Amino acid sequence: MTGTSENAAQFGVVIRGLRKSYGSNEVLKGIDLEVAPGEVVCLIGPSGSGKSTLLRCVNLLEEPTGGAIEVGGREVTDPDLDIDELRRHVGMVFQQFNLFPHLTVLENCTVAQLKVLRRQKAEAERIAQANLDRVGLGALAGRYPDQLSGGQQQRVAIARSLSMDPHLMLFDEPTSALDPETVGDVLAIMRQLADDGMTMLVVTHEMEFARVVADRVVFMDGGVVVEEGPAAQVIGNPQTPRMQDFLKRVI
Ligand code: ADP
Ligand code: MG
Repeated sequence: MTGTSENAAQFGVVIRGLRKSYGSNEVLKGIDLEVAPGEVVCLIGPSGSGKSTLLRCVNLLEEPTGGAIEVGGREVTDPDLDIDELRRHVGMVFQQFNLFPHLTVLENCTVAQLKVLRRQKAEAERIAQANLDRVGLGALAGRYPDQLSGGQQQRVAIARSLSMDPHLMLFDEPTSALDPETVGDVLAIMRQLADDGMTMLVVTHEMEFARVVADRVVFMDGGVVVEEGPAAQVIGNPQTPRMQDFLKRVI
């Protein structure tokens, strides 16, 4: 890993004093958060606390109202930054996987490679197949999304993201919409990705995943960071009543 240069294989994230308002509703009230290159940070907190908004600010799906966000050493709100170039390196996996229903699994994993990265079809297919193999779905490349379980579809969505060679992966509750029996497979893929050194910022309610995989856990409530630290500390020995209440509800 080579730090935060533009060509580094991994991007870090540095967020300082991030604010975001919708009209008079201030959703993020000065967030400081860092993810070092290769680090896995789990972001937890009650519904409505601003987790998705924070994630969406990192790749400018939402425009911050104030503060600063550096991704891979580049300030994302810099008007000179090529936002498409930034997004090319930032993979995002949502609760709803949003695969194209009329495309095969393989085609779902090649379409952005062809259109955005302008790869040749044979190369895109080779890369897609390798990433489908990586998530354990190599044999299902010719199927259509509705022939797969929710967990398999989410694994395709991860393979699709990986096929773009991301330097940072953002996950927004990737297992929240899944049947319980398929959650484990998706978490296992994410764990493998973490072990492979991917920089990951993961919004999740899966406390066991956070405890085992996260280098650090950040607990947000009401648009501020309430607690953060190593998982064993934040989950195992929460200091604030708000975190204690939250844990009682999710575990
Ligand atoms: P979380 O992901 O932690 O559940 P969100 O970031 O989705 O929280 O939402 C935080 C708050 O911001 C909520 O009160 C939500 O209603 C509000 N919010 C989110 N997106 C928008 C939007 N596009 N327009 C207006 N309000 C929004
Ligand atoms: Mg959310």
